Amino acid sequence: MKYDEIMVRYGELSTKGRNKKSFIDRLGSNVRKALHQYDKVKIHPNQDRLHVELNGTDAEPVMKRLKQVFGIQNFSPSLRVEKDFDEVVKAAIAMFKEQVQGPMTFKVETKRADHKFAMGTFEMNKQLGGALLRAFPDDLSVDVHNPDITLRVEIRLNGIYLTSAKILGAGGLPVGTAGKGMMMLSGGIDSPVAAYLALKRGVSLEMVHFYSPPYTSEQALAKAKELTSKLAKYSGSIKFIQVPFTEIQETVKEKVPEGYLMTVQRRLMLRLACALAQKRAGLAVFNGESLGQVASQTMESMLAIEDVTTMPVLRPVLTYDKNEIIKIAEEIDTYDLSILPYEDCCTVFTPPSPKTKPNLKRARSYEARLDVEGLMQRALDGIQIDEIHAGDEFLNQNQDVFAELL
Ligand code: ATP
Ligand code: MG
Repeated sequence: MKYDEIMVRYGELSTKGRNKKSFIDRLGSNVRKALHQYDKVKIHPNQDRLHVELNGTDAEPVMKRLKQVFGIQNFSPSLRVEKDFDEVVKAAIAMFKEQVQGPMTFKVETKRADHKFAMGTFEMNKQLGGALLRAFPDDLSVDVHNPDITLRVEIRLNGIYLTSAKILGAGGLPVGTAGKGMMMLSGGIDSPVAAYLALKRGVSLEMVHFYSPPYTSEQALAKAKELTSKLAKYSGSIKFIQVPFTEIQETVKEKVPEGYLMTVQRRLMLRLACALAQKRAGLAVFNGESLGQVASQTMESMLAIEDVTTMPVLRPVLTYDKNEIIKIAEEIDTYDLSILPYEDCCTVFTPPSPKTKPNLKRARSYEARLDVEGLMQRALDGIQIDEIHAGDEFLNQNQDVFAELL
């Protein structure tokens, strides 16, 4: 079927009252970004719906992209015909040929924006319904309360639009409407899922990744970047900030007792993420912690680590079981990357038995053995920022990486 337009229905944002306009504008620009490669496509974000005018572009790939844009409840490809009843019937039959498989119920629902059009809505429903019943005598019957297919007919000034399929969108809120957050992104399974969930609630993210050469490899860094590229398809391009962490880890290892290595190290990570947020207009720090999953993710640990800041530290997967996180990771296509076995900076320096219930006062006093300001300043001086786009590849450029794994 050659569609002319995709009609997009807003999700939760339709309830946002005064903010509605900025939500719609943001969604419009996010959709425009997501579809920028289709140069004939035009986007019209209106009050009640957003219209994607295809102008000859194939609807399939466009709809595939739309499914990844947050803030869309559902959408329907539609067909435009001349304002002539016989044309409407012809098009409706062609549409139903693709959708009717065996006995099904339907109804016709007409809206008329052009009141000059000769047929009223009631008459259109009745006449078109009758024509469809005659065209599919064995399979179709009418059910106005709970039909399998609802054929929507919109009589507008520039033509009549027919829509029947309703395709589920990604839900959530348009990325950018909630403000900016700093996402602590490792190469693991959890933080990419946390990032996805934050994006889904309208947060625009910048990734903060700590790396520790030569203890961590180039591949570990490339993996975190490639995970970012997977997430960029939900958000548009994402800034990736790599923060050198070697000096901090070596110093912590030298000066802090083994049981507190992890806690102090995490305090420094959080300090740096917050410092970056402050510099770059971030409102919160996000991470991939899940309560009780490992030693650093107990409430005692969170208390001893979060002590370094008053900024909100948000944990989208806090209450998720590992299985639930893995399921989302598979759905968003980050899982296979996340399980590639490149050592993360935390894995390298994790002591065999970190404290699951660190004491806040001790954590503070061990940290006080370090030149926190100097260490932080040098790490911040060494950051590198890259803009990563959906589909950018970092691991594949180096075929040896995969050879190594075989
Ligand atoms: P993940 O699967 O996200 O790595 P995890 O279960 O392995 O999580 P940890 O390694 O303890 O748990 O990390 C907890 C959180 O700390 C991560 O979800 C991430 O937000 C942050 N984090 C850990 N390592 C890094 C890193 N190298 N760079 C940035 N953030 C990190
Ligand atoms: Mg990890």
